[in-house]
Amino acid sequence: MVRVSRAADNRALDGRRRLRQTRPIYFFRVSSLAKLIFLVLGLLLAYWILKSYRRKVDRKEQPPPAGGEEDMVRCVQCGVHLPRSESLTAGGKYFCGAEHQRLHQKSG
Ligand SMILES: [Zn+2]
Repeated sequence: MVRVSRAADNRALDGRRRLRQTRPIYFFRVSSLAKLIFLVLGLLLAYWILKSYRRKVDRKEQPPPAGGEEDMVRCVQCGVHLPRSESLTAGGKYFCGAEHQRLHQKSG
């Protein structure tokens, strides 16, 4: 028994399979419709993911504006206003930075 190469075998099988699949015309129509449905579903999914992702990002970005409403304090050295969390506190006084804290302490 003489065996042809495996590649040739596969090619012959592929050809037969392809012939069987392309014979009914409705098969192509159904598959293209399925492709279209999958495409639409994929787009909807992508849109939904993007939307939920953006909502998550929006929620994440909301805290800063709320944080911007935190107490503003005034540097006793230069008079600049800054959020309390960014200021330095010494003896109940606020400073915009270590430099001004030192300057104020030096001046008394
Ligand atoms: Zn200052």
